[in-house]
Amino acid sequence: MAKATTTIKQVLNYGPEHAAWFAANQTLFNQVCAFYFDVIQAHVKILDLSNKEALTALEKLTHITQRNPAPVMPLDEVAEDIPAMFRRAAINAALGSARSFFSHLARWQKAKEKAEAKGKKFHERPPVPPRTWNKSASLYAGMWKERSDSSIVLKVWTGTCWSWMKVRITGRELPIDAELGSPQLIRKGNQWYLHTPIERQFKSSGTIEKQVTTNKQTKICSVDLNINENIAVCTIRTVEGSILATTFIHGGQRVNGFRKKLLGRIARNRHKTGILAENEQDNVHLWNTIRHVDEQGAHLVSNRIVQFAKQHEATVLVFEHLGNLKPTKGKYSKRGNEKRAFWMKGRIFRYARYKAYHAGILTSRVNPRNTSRECARCHSLVARYAEGQPAEGYTYGAPLVACHQCGMRGNADRNASLVIGQRLTQRYQKQEKPPTPLLAKRERKGSGIGLPQDAKSRNRPSLQSARHGDSNEHGTAQETGMRMVEPVSDSAHQLRLPLE
Ligand SMILES: [Zn+2]
Repeated sequence: MAKATTTIKQVLNYGPEHAAWFAANQTLFNQVCAFYFDVIQAHVKILDLSNKEALTALEKLTHITQRNPAPVMPLDEVAEDIPAMFRRAAINAALGSARSFFSHLARWQKAKEKAEAKGKKFHERPPVPPRTWNKSASLYAGMWKERSDSSIVLKVWTGTCWSWMKVRITGRELPIDAELGSPQLIRKGNQWYLHTPIERQFKSSGTIEKQVTTNKQTKICSVDLNINENIAVCTIRTVEGSILATTFIHGGQRVNGFRKKLLGRIARNRHKTGILAENEQDNVHLWNTIRHVDEQGAHLVSNRIVQFAKQHEATVLVFEHLGNLKPTKGKYSKRGNEKRAFWMKGRIFRYARYKAYHAGILTSRVNPRNTSRECARCHSLVARYAEGQPAEGYTYGAPLVACHQCGMRGNADRNASLVIGQRLTQRYQKQEKPPTPLLAKRERKGSGIGLPQDAKSRNRPSLQSARHGDSNEHGTAQETGMRMVEPVSDSAHQLRLPLE
């Protein structure tokens, strides 16, 4: 069984005076957090303990009881009558921050020592403990009661006393079968929300390696992400190689065009106003709109990818690694737009990964080298061209591909998504394969580029196929390639899908 956590976000409905209570409650929570962070800093050894032991130790250091009348650093000096569950939530929040801070500090010290040992100057600044605290208050059991779909009773610090208040809730209902975590009071702008983490258990089909090596019928959904019109092209394929379905997720041009328009507007506004004020965001509204479009686009696309995988009962989702953004020349709006389209690909991957995980689907990534240049059927180098042009050469970003080795013709993005899927299965088939003739030939030749890559690729079979793409001129690619994709019998036919 595997576990997945999601957060249910609900809107709280309250009178204007109660917003001040929530704010006072959060301020107090942060005061208590800051206090405990100081206590931990004064007793760093606490961090060697488990969270549970650390909690006990910290309470002993701070909390007055009959048995413990004179603690070292009494919490009462900061705030009196803190409910136990409020205190514990704050302690755990402080512990989290302290663990993160001290591990950063340790990493910094290590890097510093390493640099000094080599006689180098070390310029990096040390991490600093948080100067301001802006944590959201967690409501442990005892700080809330009588929860229903439409209301909850919360215990909050009003600024003068502790008080129970009943708040109406709207928004998503809590699922019945899930396990609830402690809700948190979250402020966004002027509105307060209740966020409740929920845990769900689902049946896991094992690691990707296990699925791919033990079940030839495991369905893999491979995804090629683009910055052109076809934002995502997904193909479902079994491990043995049958291609079951493909879908094109469109809309790239609309997002790109819209974003470019806004970026152009920002550039013109900046030109008009001249110097930009330091530490002040210009064109706030336009930037917000851009951010919103990117965010929403990434959610829509990732959602459709996972829906498609689910619909075809795929249990593995595979992308290519993003690689580096190659800066291009051009106007501010063009450069900025490409950068954002590239970031959006990263976002789509991250969102798809967590959405897939919730659906019991595992996600992996493969080497991106030449995924668009390789023929999915025979692994030779393909020609990439636009409709109406001769099928030769390689026009970056063109929609069609043709393979002169095996005669495959089809959509370039679909071909890339097939190659991505193949690389995942090749990764686990590696041990059974003798080195390809091509590899031997390369090693003998001792070509400058070939050797270091060969060395690197020992554990990464995905590079092998990538090299086949380069090797078209040797005329060996076809034999090696044919063997690798034997099972893909119908790919030539399948690849001839019309552009949707
Ligand atoms: Zn081919």
